[in-house]
Amino acid sequence: MVDCLFCRIIAGEIPGAFVHKDDRLVAFKDVNPQAPMHVLVVPRRHIATLNDLSAEDDALLGEMTRVAGNIAKQHGHAERGYRTIFNCNAAAGQTVFHIHMHVLGGRSFAWPPG
Ligand code: AMP
Ligand code: ZN
Repeated sequence: MVDCLFCRIIAGEIPGAFVHKDDRLVAFKDVNPQAPMHVLVVPRRHIATLNDLSAEDDALLGEMTRVAGNIAKQHGHAERGYRTIFNCNAAAGQTVFHIHMHVLGGRSFAWPPG
């Protein structure tokens, strides 16, 4: 997808601090981290928002969740706890329109979120 920041990171046109790569997903560190661990799990295929998912993406979303858990384990945050977030569209604060799961850990998180 032309002019998509995350497609360009996945294509290697913009540097990313990758912590995971496989056939369907990548994960890289957020450039503006909101916690000691702040990683974005991103499908290689361009999907703009959660509203654009179809049933054929169910396995992809499951993989994203499993990879997020593995990343939290690798960083030592799995037992204490970590947070996963998808923002969808403007009211939720989505700024990059290529779906991504935020994975944050290394501190306590308030509920409800802001
Ligand atoms: P969202 O607001 O949910 O769409 O999240 C987009 C995230 O992408 C934000 O947390 C940004 O800090 C992050 N971000 C923006 N540009 C980059 C970049 N070049 N590399 C890594 N993360 C980025
Ligand atoms: Zn994209």
